[in-house]
Amino acid sequence: MNESQHRTTGPERTERSVSITFDRATKIYPGSETPALDALSLTVEAGELLCLVGPSGGGKTTALMLINRLIDLTSGDIRIGETSITDIGAIELRRKTGYAIQQTGLFPHMTVAQNIAVVPRILGWSAARIDARTDELLELVGLTPTAQWRARYPGQLSGGQQQRVGIARALAADPPLMLMDEPFGALDPITRTAVQDEFLAIHRAVGKTTVFVTHDIDEAIKMGDKIAVLRPGGLLAQLGPPEDLLAEPADDFVASFLGAERGLKRLGLYRLGDLAGEQREPLPDWPRLPAGMTAREALSCATAERADGVIVADGETPERAVPVARLLQPEVSEGAA
Ligand code: ADP
Ligand code: MG
Repeated sequence: MNESQHRTTGPERTERSVSITFDRATKIYPGSETPALDALSLTVEAGELLCLVGPSGGGKTTALMLINRLIDLTSGDIRIGETSITDIGAIELRRKTGYAIQQTGLFPHMTVAQNIAVVPRILGWSAARIDARTDELLELVGLTPTAQWRARYPGQLSGGQQQRVGIARALAADPPLMLMDEPFGALDPITRTAVQDEFLAIHRAVGKTTVFVTHDIDEAIKMGDKIAVLRPGGLLAQLGPPEDLLAEPADDFVASFLGAERGLKRLGLYRLGDLAGEQREPLPDWPRLPAGMTAREALSCATAERADGVIVADGETPERAVPVARLLQPEVSEGAA
């Protein structure tokens, strides 16, 4: 991905990164006895991708809609940077946030290009600037050649393509915040993986503070810098990096939400290239694996071959032996390679 390419036509980039702080944020819907979101306190650091997970009805969508004031807080506060959302005008707030949802919300009677241009038009951008930005975004989300996609209507696109356009539209005015509500929920597994990878690449390139709602814990483990688990009643059950949750779930609810394979999922977060190895002479006759493979995959290979470890063969550093015991405790040697 060419960094300079998609940084040329956006608006002033000074607002790029900004934190979001929930400060005892509470929502009780009218007519309801119990909170949908109960005194949520957490900070999403600037540039961080927070995955908000939990069972259906846990208050995820509520938390997201509170941020851009699609609904109002009952009590508590949410701050963007240092500023309370109640001190930011609703229009300013929408301008600051890109919002992408499962149903994509694309306007069916507008072309792809017109859909992407909705917010830039409201902001009064010139036609030339909108055009350039539209091409840039289509390329960013992997819809090339762009000319072919601009003139199509949402109904002429597959689910995955619509989702990509939805992301492009959310990014159009280069908002400092991205709010995403189960954006890939409706996609088949293969398309979903592709769009997740695409979005992660975009996130790494443009580094926007993102709140990403999903009920899929594996998606959260893959995407999140941090994960916040909500339990029914809108209570925060645990907050932390995926590694920490998988290694030490706070309670039985979080553990069961992470699933029976949480031990293996945890090993899936570490790559062989990051594990220290032993330069033995001679090297044992273990499976030779690339450095990009995860500890989880390597363990599977070792098991299949009934070997006591694997050999990391990345072609750059000398080949080294990683015993199974090391694969099982990847965090001990992280970064030591
Ligand atoms: P999630 O996105 O985690 O599935 P929601 O935030 O949509 O959860 O809902 C949390 C709780 O608030 C649920 O019990 C839901 O029924 C309730 N709720 C959501 N929207 C409304 C509404 N507009 N009016 C009343 N109750 C609502
Ligand atoms: Mg929801």
